[in-house]
Amino acid sequence: MILCYSRLLACSPVRLLVLVLALVSVGAMSLASRCESCGMPMETNEQHGAQNPNNPYCIHCTDMKGKLLPFEKKFEELVKTAMDTRWMNREQAEKYVLQQMAQMPAWTETVAHLKQGAASQ
Ligand SMILES: [Zn+2]
Repeated sequence: MILCYSRLLACSPVRLLVLVLALVSVGAMSLASRCESCGMPMETNEQHGAQNPNNPYCIHCTDMKGKLLPFEKKFEELVKTAMDTRWMNREQAEKYVLQQMAQMPAWTETVAHLKQGAASQ
């Protein structure tokens, strides 16, 4: 009986370790979500708005309290980035960014409204 117990102890830490590793890898995978505003992968809590892993937006798309930035501000920022990194002129960059943002859960509706507004004018 004692022998049996010690054998169980001898092999269980390994099993436990495997189990923990499996759980950690599953947890890490679910943590690596993408920002619903800009699509940036968020691998650590620090990359989420207000460092809150439940925040669907990244640190670059939120204010200090983790609130999503206004559309205009994010749009302007992304347009500038596109102009800097993709060698686009302002018009091209605006079109490109609008297209990108239209695919983001955070902005789909905003962009749809904007397009509606532009079409009715
Ligand atoms: Zn973001």
